This record gives sequence, C-alpha cells and structure tokens, in this order.
Amino acid sequence: MKKGMTARFHIALGETFLVVSVLLAAFYIGLIPDRDGAIREGRVALAETVAINSSFQLEQGERAGLEAMLETIVGRNPDILSVAIRRQDGEQLITIGDHQEHWKVFPGDYSIDSQMLVPIWSGNEKWGSVELRFKDLQAGGVAGFISDPRVQLVAYIAISSFILFYFYLAKMLRHLDPSQAVPTRVRNALDTLTEGLLVIDNRGYIVLANQAFADVTGTPPDKLVGTLVEKLSWSVNGTDKAASTALPWAQSVREGLPLRNGMIYLPDNTGKRRTFLVNCSPVMGSGRGHGGVLITFEDVTLLEEKEIELRKSRDEAEAANQAKSKFLANMSHEIRTPMNAILGFTEVLKRGYVNSEQDKHKYLNTIYNSGSHLLELINDILDLSKVEAGRMDIEKIRCQPQTIIGDVVQVLGVRAEEKGITLDFEASTPVPETVYTDPSRLRQIVTNLVGNAIKFTDQGGVKITLALRESTDRPQLVINVSDTGIGIDKSKLAGIFDPFVQADTSVTRRFGGTGLGLAISQRFAQVLGGDIQVTSRLNQGSEFTVYVDTGPLEGVRYIQPGDLSASMADPETAEQQRWQFPAARILVVDDGAENRDLVRLMLQDSGLQIDEAEDGEACLACVDRHDYQAILMDVQMPVMDGFTAAGKLRERGFTAPLIAMTGNAMKGYEEECLQAGYSHYMTKPLEINVMMQLLAGLLGGKPVSQAAAVTAAIPAVTDKAEANDPVDNEPLVSRLASDVRFHPVISRFVDKFHTEFELLLRAWREQDYAELARLAHWLKGSGGTVGFDAFTKPAEALERFSKTGNQKKIDRIMQELQQLAARISAPDAITTVNNTAPETVV
Ligand code: ADP
Repeated sequence: MKKGMTARFHIALGETFLVVSVLLAAFYIGLIPDRDGAIREGRVALAETVAINSSFQLEQGERAGLEAMLETIVGRNPDILSVAIRRQDGEQLITIGDHQEHWKVFPGDYSIDSQMLVPIWSGNEKWGSVELRFKDLQAGGVAGFISDPRVQLVAYIAISSFILFYFYLAKMLRHLDPSQAVPTRVRNALDTLTEGLLVIDNRGYIVLANQAFADVTGTPPDKLVGTLVEKLSWSVNGTDKAASTALPWAQSVREGLPLRNGMIYLPDNTGKRRTFLVNCSPVMGSGRGHGGVLITFEDVTLLEEKEIELRKSRDEAEAANQAKSKFLANMSHEIRTPMNAILGFTEVLKRGYVNSEQDKHKYLNTIYNSGSHLLELINDILDLSKVEAGRMDIEKIRCQPQTIIGDVVQVLGVRAEEKGITLDFEASTPVPETVYTDPSRLRQIVTNLVGNAIKFTDQGGVKITLALRESTDRPQLVINVSDTGIGIDKSKLAGIFDPFVQADTSVTRRFGGTGLGLAISQRFAQVLGGDIQVTSRLNQGSEFTVYVDTGPLEGVRYIQPGDLSASMADPETAEQQRWQFPAARILVVDDGAENRDLVRLMLQDSGLQIDEAEDGEACLACVDRHDYQAILMDVQMPVMDGFTAAGKLRERGFTAPLIAMTGNAMKGYEEECLQAGYSHYMTKPLEINVMMQLLAGLLGGKPVSQAAAVTAAIPAVTDKAEANDPVDNEPLVSRLASDVRFHPVISRFVDKFHTEFELLLRAWREQDYAELARLAHWLKGSGGTVGFDAFTKPAEALERFSKTGNQKKIDRIMQELQQLAARISAPDAITTVNNTAPETVV
C-alpha cells in the first residue's frame, strides 16, 4: 500500500512539473499575455497624452484648465499617486497629490514602471516636463514575489495539477489492480473466511477474490482478479455450463438488486462438482449507481450429498414398499392356487365324487403335490425372512459336495428329462471329497439354480461344473450352472438377486415361481463365505456361478475330474464302501448302545480295535488301562458328561484326537466342544462316510477300492424314507438296511425303539416333559444314526417343545411319531415286505 502511494506521489509530482514547464514555456514565448507590460504601455500612453494636453494648455495660457484636467485624471485613475508639471528650470508649476513624497529623484532622470517623465514642448523648445507617479507595479521581497500573478498562476496550476493527478491516479491504479485498493487487514480478514468471496465489477470482471474461493478453483486470488467471472465453468443445473445471463448474480449486476440463497455448481480443482449457496449484494460505486457485486459462496456439497442420500433411501424405501405390496399380491396368488386345488379335491373326495381308484389316486396326488408346493413356498418365505432378519442358523459340518449336487441332479433330472433337455454334471479340476459347509443350504442353492436353469430352458440343456479355486486366500468350491435357455435381458440382470423384485412378470406368468429363489440363494452363498455371480445373454442362455468356502482341506482326499461320475453315480456304493486302517485302538463313548454298536461295527470292519464305554467316568477308567489312538465321545451322557470327561482327559495328558458325536447342531456348539477339549466335531445322526473320512484323515485309513457286494436283495430306500407321507402305509425301513452288516444294529434299535416308544407315550400322557425331552433326545440321535432319518426332525422338535412345555405342538408331533412308529420295520420284516410287493420298494 505504502509503495503504491509513493509511486502515485511521484507520478503526480512528475506530471505537475511537466505542466509547470509547459506553462513557463508558454510565458516565455509569449503565448500568455503580460499584464505588467500592458499596464506599462497604458501608463506611457497616459503620460504622453497628459504631456501633449499640458503643452497645448500652457501655450493657450490655460493654467487653471490644465490643473483642473490633471486633477480629473488623478481622481479617475487610482493607479496614479501624484502628478507634477515642472519647468525646464526645475520649478514645479503645478502639483497634484503629495508629489514631493512619492517622486523619487535619481540621476539621469528617466522613466521607470512607477514614474513617468514626459517632456513638454513649446514650439521647438523644451518647456518643461510632466511627472506622473504611479503605484509600484510589484512589491519587493517575498511578499512581492508571492503577489506576482504569474507566480500565483504557476503555483495555482502546479498545486491543482498535483492534486488532480494524485487523485486521478488513485482511481486509475484502483482500476488497474483493484485488489490493492482493499486495505491489507481487510484482505487478511476476508481470507480467513471459510465462505468463498468474490467482488465483480459491472462488466463481470473479478475485482477481488478471497483465499477460500481461490482454494476451490486452485487459482491464486491475484490470478483470478481481472478475469471474467463467467469464464469459470459454472453450472446452474449441475451438468451443463451456464450462460452468463443465467448466473445468479446477473440480475444483481444489471439492476443492482441483492439476491439471497441462489444455487450454483462449480467443479473444484480436482474436478469434483461442488455445490454453493450464493448470496449477492451490490457494492456502491463512485458514481450514483452501484459499482459491482459482492458474491459469497457457501459450500453446501456435503449437505446436498446428504440430502441426495436421504432422498435415495426414501425412494428405495418406497420402492421396497411397492415391491413388497407387489410381492404380497403375487404371494397371495401363489398360495391361493395350490390351496384351491387342495380344498377343491379334498371336497371332491369327501363327497365321494370319485368314479375309480385311479381317479382317487390322481386327486390325492394333486393334493399332495399342491401341498408340497405350498410347503416349499412357505419355506422360501421363512428362509428369506430369517436371512433378512440376520437370524439364519448355519450348521457347518463335513459333507460331500459331489453327493449333494448328485442328489439334486437325480431329483431334477426327472424334470429335465420330461422337457427333453440334457442335465450334465462334471468336474473341471480335482475336487475335495468333503468340505466343511452347511449341506442343506448348499443343496438349496444348487436346487434353486439348477431348477431355474431347467425351468427357463426349452432346448439344449443344463450343465453343472464343479471346481476348486485355490487362488484366493482361502480355498473355495466353485459350482457353475450354465444353460442354453431364454437368458436374461441386460437391464434386468442387476435386479434378479433382489428380494421382492420379480425380474419379469410376463416370464413369471409363463413359468411360475416367486422371485425369491435367487435372493435366498445369494444370501446363503454369502453366509457360506462366498457369493453368486451371473452372466447371461438374451435368447442364448445364462451362467450362474456359486462360490462357497471349503473350510480346511488338510487330510481330505481329492476326486479326479474323471472319477466324479463314478463317485456319485451310485450312492449305495459309497455307503457300502470299505476302509482299511493301520492297527489302532479306539474308544467309543456313548450312552446309546445302538450308536456304540454302529460305530463299533464300522470301525471293526476296517481293522480297528474298538472298546466301548457308557459315560465319561467309564471312559476315564478305560483310558487309565489302555492307550487309545482316538476317542469318539458323545457329549450329553449320564454320570459324567462329555465336556467334563474331555477336560479331565486333557488334564491327564491325553493328546490323541477326541471326536465329539453330538445331537446338538446349534450354531456355536462346535466352538464350545473345541473349548472343552474335543479336537473334532460330528453331528448326529452320524454320516458314516463323513465319520470314516475323518478317521481316515486322522489315522491314515484308506478306502478299499472294490465296493462291498450287496448280499441282501434289499434296495436302498435312501432319503426317500425321509419324506414320510402321512397317507403312506409302506413300512419305514432304515437307510442302512441295504448293507447286511448293519442288520443286527438296526434290529436292536427297532426292538429298543418299541420299548422306549411305550415310555414316550406314557410320558406324553402324564405330561412328564423332562422324560419326554430325554427320550426325544435319544430318538433324535439314535434314529438317524441307524438310518431312520424320518425320526430326526420330529424328535428334535419334540425335545425342543418338551423343554418349553408346549403341549399343543407336542400333541401334533406325537401324532406324527405314532404314525411313523406304526410303520417302523426291522430288516427281516422288510425282506418279507419286499418279497410280497417288490414293485413298491424299487
Ligand atoms: P423364480 O424363479 O421363482 O421367479 P428366482 O429368484 O429364482 O425366482 O429368479 C428370479 C428371476 O430371474 C426369474 O423370475 C427369471 O426371470 C430370472 N432367472 C433366474 N434364473 C434364470 C435362468 N437360468 N434363465 C433365465 N432367467 C432366469
């Protein structure tokens, strides 16, 4: 600022000198009239005139007239101080004014500016002279110099030019670098503002920009000054560059009106779009109108983003709500359709409108199928609501992925066959024989994907490819389901995993379905540590790929791609597979004799030496006497439970594998077992293959390649026994009945079952819930273990409801159990059934 001022001062001074020089030159060359000269000439002329008149009057002898004339001249001319007529001899003839006082006598007698001496002639003779004394033209000394009009003029012009230049320059400099016109402390204060600030002039040029604004644009304030404000990439709609007339301050600049809370967008120096709330105030100019506009910019980008987010969530909530309503409408249709069939055909049967046994069977089938469909639908909804609420229980156990997929292929293969399309299953890499995951969730995922693929494919076929992906930090199973069906439109692809969002209603109408399958499957896959991905081309086909964690793979055998079909082609083969173990002594601890029997049977057959114990205490006693290479031990036992026994064993330095066999498959229970001292965990009903593989991994067992010969002509009833149809009166046979080795165990179980079931009925009648729970627990573990899977679920529910004393539920389950109990058959009995009605068991 100071520097600016001295510059201004010097320039103004220089300019003033210039003007004064020009003025002096003008004086010098006479361009400016000389007032003194003119007075001097006037005085000379007056003196001449007086002298001529005086000569004339004296020659005429008009002395009195001369005197009167002189008096008149002096009286009218204030410039004259005195006048005298002097004769040649020196005598003063006439004197007007105090001539003696004023007249200066000096040698040579000549005229000067203030006194004129003019001769008077009489004929050709000089008669005397006229003396005229004027006021002095100029005072002497400093005062005289100052009072000199030329000096005054020069001084006046010099001073006024300096002042004019000085202020003119101020204005000019302000225009050239207006930001300098703002005092530093004001600038500093403006720079500390968090709001951006601009001052623009009436032509739109930036006159001032503060630091906050400069930070946004990434251009320093002094670089912004002097640029046209509209040159910046302003936008009023958030996308297009705004025209200069559309800018919020345009009206303020035009009309000098303030503006409040305008909105404008400007990309910052990183290219990110920022949103500003703009306020404009006209700034007073030097003239009458406003001189420009002060604009403040409040950065509301975050606020706007928040608002957009809120708006988005609101829209999403609304969309979800709409989708839910649509879903409910669809659901109600989906539920009513099978309900109609069930009620309608039940009514037909009730009223006896049946002409033949065949019709009756047909109606019953329709009722059964509709009921199954309804159950599936309800399960879907329940699954989804559980997943959505984050309450889904995952029960990870060792299971065989190729068997799970093989089962699905078997079940859905019928549908594919009906449609005349192929359904293939192969492996593209060696795959682990067992993985640690939730088999029922995995089965659901694969069933959904393969079911969809078949549903949406009319020509060509469906291919399932199993592979192991080890490139990631943890190994994953990759199941790829590809089809040559109708495909999915690109625009719909993103939405198909959303719950409640149906892909295409026209497709739904044609193919049925609820639109829940993929939503559920994807969430299952995510809970199992993976995800589902999809690629699809309309009218060409779709490809869904599922990833799930395999869990640890140490000690797990691998199936080569070529062996996959062999390993799953005949599930019975796997069940009847024999193992060979190196010599080892194993202890089986369980209070259920049939469990012990079964495990002993299997392990003895594989060359292992087996001891048995009924409870924890007996187990400790055995361990005191012998060395065991592994112990398989139940958890819930009388006298001493498994947790206590496990703790004591570990305290005593038992380091070999200690495998829990438990009916409790609750989430987190495995963790508890491991903490108690167990090293491994298996759930009941025991899966023999899983158990054998686990032990093989631990003790170095090997499968014996040739499958066991099926000695009994009893076909496997496999999982079908699970779907116990209430109207089915066929005998309930054990899943293991196809292997004669298990017959004694199954028979013993069936015998015990009848006794225990009597106790169960009594406890039910007497409402002895503790006894009910105990017996249900036994049934849950033992029934499934010896191959009567149909008991597992109701027994589990019975145990649960007995603990809470829910009589209504107990009644319902007991009825179901009674029906099952009436059908239970020991192997010998089955052989009889088989002989009499072979077609029913194929
Ligand atoms: P649903 O099959 O019961 O309708 P899903 O959630 O399983 O429900 O599938 C959602 C939608 O995704 C289906 O309605 C269908 O439009 C589409 N879709 C799923 N799988 C396929 C497939 N393999 N081919 C073509 N479209 C498919």
